[in-house]
Amino acid sequence: MKRRFFACLTAFFLLSSLLSSAMAADDRTFIAMDTVMTLRIPNASESLIDDCEQAVYALEALFSVTRPDSEIARLNAGEAVTLSPDTQTLLSFALDMARETEGALDVTLYPVVRAWGFTTGDYRVPTDEELAALLENIGYNRIAVKDGLAALPESMMLDLGCIAKGYTSDILAEKLRSAGIDRAIMDLGGSICLIGSKSDGSLWRVGIADPRGENYAAVLSAADCSVVTSGCYERSFTADDGTVYGHIFDPSTGKPVDNGMTSVTVISSCGLLCDALSTALYVMGLDKACAYLKAHTDVEAVLISDDMIYATDGLKGALFLTGNYSFLQWIDR
Ligand code: AMP
Ligand code: MG
Repeated sequence: MKRRFFACLTAFFLLSSLLSSAMAADDRTFIAMDTVMTLRIPNASESLIDDCEQAVYALEALFSVTRPDSEIARLNAGEAVTLSPDTQTLLSFALDMARETEGALDVTLYPVVRAWGFTTGDYRVPTDEELAALLENIGYNRIAVKDGLAALPESMMLDLGCIAKGYTSDILAEKLRSAGIDRAIMDLGGSICLIGSKSDGSLWRVGIADPRGENYAAVLSAADCSVVTSGCYERSFTADDGTVYGHIFDPSTGKPVDNGMTSVTVISSCGLLCDALSTALYVMGLDKACAYLKAHTDVEAVLISDDMIYATDGLKGALFLTGNYSFLQWIDR
């Protein structure tokens, strides 16, 4: 079985090439939260950039499912844990979004995700019986946080990986803004946060990867917002029979999503919301995702499904197709 992982890294460098009038040095690239992150913060002091990098490691130390001493790993090991304010915020938001998306986003899916080998690297296709047994212990509505204290019912486990990077980007953006930084671009492995605009006042240009290959499907002009993409092409493995299995799961089946969706990008002022929704809309599939977007006009989105691009009409004038796609359908709201 083969793993395809560094699409996010490729995406950043492709993205970089699109940033015209690229900013001088001040880039910091490091690996955290199981992905490659790059902070490009012109005019920032070394110590501010160090602070940002350290803040990412500190959040990772709280949320990681693979570090035995993280708050989430301790919960998963059966301990009752008094949660830090960050973990409490993130977990409460995850549960709210699970209700809001009718369970498309479910952070209790971890036992299923792990059984397929994601996070451990030991990829395999579980049997239907094994999945049925694991699904018995899935269900966001069985989790409660009271007075900051959480404990999981037996055999349940959490993974906040579907929202952790978006949350982290919001924390970094707040840190930078309060330090007086008015221009930056951060790529936390597919969670992109834009602060201000380019030095000449024009908009940033963010490439949306083509899920079918190395190039872009579209380019978005934007400023002062988060742009978060989810897609199974970012992380997948190929089984011995040639079937490709992606890392985003349908909580109702315990299997990787197979609904025609290949990429979802969500744009809003809140990285956390974008991260939650990019994953959830992917799980919903085209029809439900469009219905959700019609009812929630606080976010914009670009969906790629069955080789077609759909985008909310608020992006008119800001979204441009590359040669790889010829048809764009607007989602009118
Ligand atoms: P993202 O890259 O933000 O779309 O998050 C995907 C990650 O979240 C996966 O690698 C899994 O660890 C986890 N995940 C997969 N499917 C779901 C789901 N339906 N709800 C919550 N987390 C999920
Ligand atoms: Mg997400």
